[in-house]
Amino acid sequence: MFNKVLIEKDILNTKKTQSILNKVKYQDLIEIDRYDEYFGKYKKPYLQKRENLNLYIAKKKGNLIKETPDAYGLSGDKHYYYIHQYNCIYECEYCYLQGYFHSPDIVLFINHDEIINEMQKIMDQNQERVWFHAGEFSDSLALSHITDEFADYYAFLDKNPNALIELRTKSVNTKALKGARENLYITYSLSPQQKIKEIDLKTPSLKHRLSAINKLYQEGYKIGIHLDPIIYNDDFKENYQEFLDELNTAIPIKEIQYISIGVVRYTPNVWNEVKKNYPNSIMHKEELVKTEGNLIRYNKPMRMWILNTVEEMLYSYEIAKEKVYKCMEI
Ligand code: SF4
Repeated sequence: MFNKVLIEKDILNTKKTQSILNKVKYQDLIEIDRYDEYFGKYKKPYLQKRENLNLYIAKKKGNLIKETPDAYGLSGDKHYYYIHQYNCIYECEYCYLQGYFHSPDIVLFINHDEIINEMQKIMDQNQERVWFHAGEFSDSLALSHITDEFADYYAFLDKNPNALIELRTKSVNTKALKGARENLYITYSLSPQQKIKEIDLKTPSLKHRLSAINKLYQEGYKIGIHLDPIIYNDDFKENYQEFLDELNTAIPIKEIQYISIGVVRYTPNVWNEVKKNYPNSIMHKEELVKTEGNLIRYNKPMRMWILNTVEEMLYSYEIAKEKVYKCMEI
């Protein structure tokens, strides 16, 4: 699976590193002092991830937890994300990671204990509920059978009922999960199957994602859905109506804990990469403009029309209004 595995020397013999090494295939193993002396130091073209992908195993230094941008999650709560992995095995054409790091190589951080210590400090200062989102720079489940970190996070959840963890994913790799919890949310990013086929490259199909959602729902997991990014096409309304009917058969939409909706959007850096990496993508069919917040996306009237259309469709399935929010729209 990987060309090279580069490991920080001082964690080579830890149980976590050895457990990861036992589960991955690679050609060379290289010991290094610090991952950040190599990762992203020289620009590695994003699409090299198709033939030449390296894996780093490292300890995250610096900020382990960050506050999320506004309008990221359900309003009224505090939201943070934690950083335990960089990059992803999938290849969604809109993925912002292509313009964020200088390399598509995957970095697994194994100091989950330090991440959880930081989360605990935040909980010790808060009486109210606080969200911790995983998967900001990766997919939360895709490699979870290799990283196998959930036992530590479950212990944190059990100790802190006001701490809520969101695992955001497109993966059907659910076997490392350790059972439902009141404060654990598994959330799936979904689009109509035609869009998945065209731009969510290498990801599980809609059918497989819906089947995973149904299984988790039956097992008592709390499920959230991200209808994001929505990409406009001429049959957009019909496509979304059909797709929401399919979703409603996997899990009654009114039973979903929350649903975010958002249109496709890019920072200028990501947009430059997208045009270079995917010049013929269906994403280029509609005009995008620079908008408030320095984001490149549909103009505001069009965005609002798309988002309000999907929102109204969702309400027809009797989901409570407070469970639906527009992502990155202030
Ligand atoms: S699943 Fe998420 S992180 Fe992975 S390529 Fe797609 S958008 Fe990027």
